[in-house]
Amino acid sequence: MLKSKMSEFDLIAQYFTRPPRHATLGVGDDCALLTPTPGMLQAISTDMLIEGRHFLPDADPAQLGHKCLAVNLSDLAAMGATPVAFTLALSLPQARAAWLQPFAEGLLALADAHQCELIGGDTTKGPLNICITVFGEVPPGLALRRDAAQVGDDIWVSGTLGEARLALAGLRNEIVLDPSTLVAAARHLHAPTPRVRLGLALRGVAHAAIDISDGLSGDLGHILQRSRVGATLDVDALPPGPMLSHQPLDLRRRFTLAGGDDYELCFTAPSEHRKAVLAAAHSADTAVTRIGSIDAAPGLRLMDSAGAALTLQLSSFDHFSSP
Ligand code: ADP
Ligand code: MG
Repeated sequence: MLKSKMSEFDLIAQYFTRPPRHATLGVGDDCALLTPTPGMLQAISTDMLIEGRHFLPDADPAQLGHKCLAVNLSDLAAMGATPVAFTLALSLPQARAAWLQPFAEGLLALADAHQCELIGGDTTKGPLNICITVFGEVPPGLALRRDAAQVGDDIWVSGTLGEARLALAGLRNEIVLDPSTLVAAARHLHAPTPRVRLGLALRGVAHAAIDISDGLSGDLGHILQRSRVGATLDVDALPPGPMLSHQPLDLRRRFTLAGGDDYELCFTAPSEHRKAVLAAAHSADTAVTRIGSIDAAPGLRLMDSAGAALTLQLSSFDHFSSP
């Protein structure tokens, strides 16, 4: 229940209710009803965004609406799943039209771009906290699972890395960035592009995939652990974001390897599939870069472009051990 001038039900009706498209029953009943596509597996994922933890208290509401759905769609992308629908659980300190209107617009614009329908949720008064659950579909046997990497696979990454971390470093005054650099980098932090089309194009082409939310080295580590393999990365092949590419080598290496908030896909594919990977990337209009290979020896080895071993102090993001 949300006690405010605008009632909870007015708020839901005004901002979050639209005629159902594919759903059999959408917002307004005790449950939504979805008719599954025969023969498909359902892919389901939840991500929560909390003020002060995942975004700053003055975050732009339209960008926040975009981002909280984008990070969820990114999980569907990393599974090779087609987005179908989502629910929105929203805790809000007050019902303000000046916040709700742009939030709903940012959220629903991205939802429409992916034909992913808002089918229900919950609304309550409390600290700002946004929790989305996405529902997608993938044919049996074609999901891009973390446990599917094989020795000899190439490792690839989409887009560029480290730009969101560069923006965060600028916002936190860890480094000094000129204002135009900060504005450009902050777009990657506030409005990530979920790689849904690439994930779909990689069905049957890639073996394993993960989306990079906590930093490449840590997230690739999850593939290695689940697949019981190791990897060697060419650190100088990692594609830095456009603003990061002008920063010193050490920062470039650390932010591309362990930046966080990139929402690019890291995936593995057999080397015979190189042409198919490039064709998939082309069809999805998304750049991809080959950055290393999967080995039998456990652990992650870092090399520079000359093949010399590198030791870098890296920490990927973890809510319970990071500051
Ligand atoms: P209940 O009392 O059964 O939990 P609610 O009163 O919380 O139902 O919600 C009424 C309807 O509005 C339900 O269909 C629910 O899914 C939907 N709903 C509630 N909050 C949201 C929201 N933030 N976005 C979309 N749908 C919502
Ligand atoms: Mg409810």
